[in-house]
Amino acid sequence: MLRIGIGNDMHRMVEGRPLVLGGVQIPSDRGAEGHSDADALLHAIADAILGALCEGDLGVHFPDQDPQWKGSDSTQLLSRVMWLAREQGFHVVNVDATVILEAPKLRPHALTMREKIAEILGVELACISVKAKTNEGLDAIGRGEAVAAQAVVLLESGT
Ligand SMILES: [Zn+2]
Repeated sequence: MLRIGIGNDMHRMVEGRPLVLGGVQIPSDRGAEGHSDADALLHAIADAILGALCEGDLGVHFPDQDPQWKGSDSTQLLSRVMWLAREQGFHVVNVDATVILEAPKLRPHALTMREKIAEILGVELACISVKAKTNEGLDAIGRGEAVAAQAVVLLESGT
């Protein structure tokens, strides 16, 4: 059986926070604000997997109010979501994701992000696509006030 899921995430960009995307810390004078490490890319992928499983969203599984998840590493959140998928007999076929950020440029980090995500999801590098784009100076993302990510995930059960 095949299941598809979609995920979207956005975080405010502020000074004095590290920028973590796809589990990779990226040199930047600003970073994303959030309860966890605010990794919008991993959050979008995790939401897409949960969506494919019809298991709600990240907020249901990792509530903002729960101090257990404060400052948490989003690679651990994604690992837990992947564990849930495996429990239900699913594996990942492929992931296609886009990160939208005005600066810094993410393309030099795309391969490292893909490697990290492939490792967490237990698939080959060729099954993980990470695209990076800007918002052409428009809206909050264009003003450097936010980072957004979108992801689509295909899951398959059985062999
Ligand atoms: Zn998030």
